[in-house]
Amino acid sequence: MGGRREAEGVQLVLLGPPGAGKGTQAEMLSQFYGIPQISTGNILRAAVQAGSELGRQAQKYMNAGQLVPDEVIIGVVQERLGKPDCAAGFLLDGFPRTVPQAEALDRVLAEMERPLTAAVEVAVDPEEVVERLSLRRTCPQCAAVYHLKNKPPRQPGVCDACGAALVQREDDREEVIRKRLEVYAQQTAPLVDYYAGKKLLLKVDGGQEIGAVQAEIRRKLEAVVNKA
Ligand SMILES: [Zn+2]
Repeated sequence: MGGRREAEGVQLVLLGPPGAGKGTQAEMLSQFYGIPQISTGNILRAAVQAGSELGRQAQKYMNAGQLVPDEVIIGVVQERLGKPDCAAGFLLDGFPRTVPQAEALDRVLAEMERPLTAAVEVAVDPEEVVERLSLRRTCPQCAAVYHLKNKPPRQPGVCDACGAALVQREDDREEVIRKRLEVYAQQTAPLVDYYAGKKLLLKVDGGQEIGAVQAEIRRKLEAVVNKA
């Protein structure tokens, strides 16, 4: 493998439950390595807009309110990974979601001779996620964000900045968070074992502050990239 790594680029999959701060970490990694951050939601919408054959297929399912089947998603991902901006690598965020999708991705990457560098897991304690999100309150008027424990408003229920009544977003309700965590545990958590089995898993502690999480990811990635 020696010396080939540079030509191969940095190919990453980012894993982590909702509320782990994955999106922020993805953005920072994407900037640092100069690689595009690819999420299936975005590329499906782009394919639909571009009116490609796969885009038309995806649209059929989306219009019917159905899940887009794996083979269509994989096709769209494959198309996207072949674009010139992926020459230095890419970061997949929110894909794969299931083990069958991960297996399909492996086949695609093997065909492209672009093996995965690592699967980064931003790990957090589910109860911490529940507390972090369920105590969040937002201002519907100026979008200020508060936390009942860590950053409470001066006057309960009232925005410090503009005086509007604070609200809890639907996504921040405890039942909604628990449901999303449950779906993640059933569907996506098995991916952690899948990538661990392939010795590709890099686990980082997502309970730290944003900068410390990013530093830990880069440190662990450097070790992998330099080893090659
Ligand atoms: Zn406000």
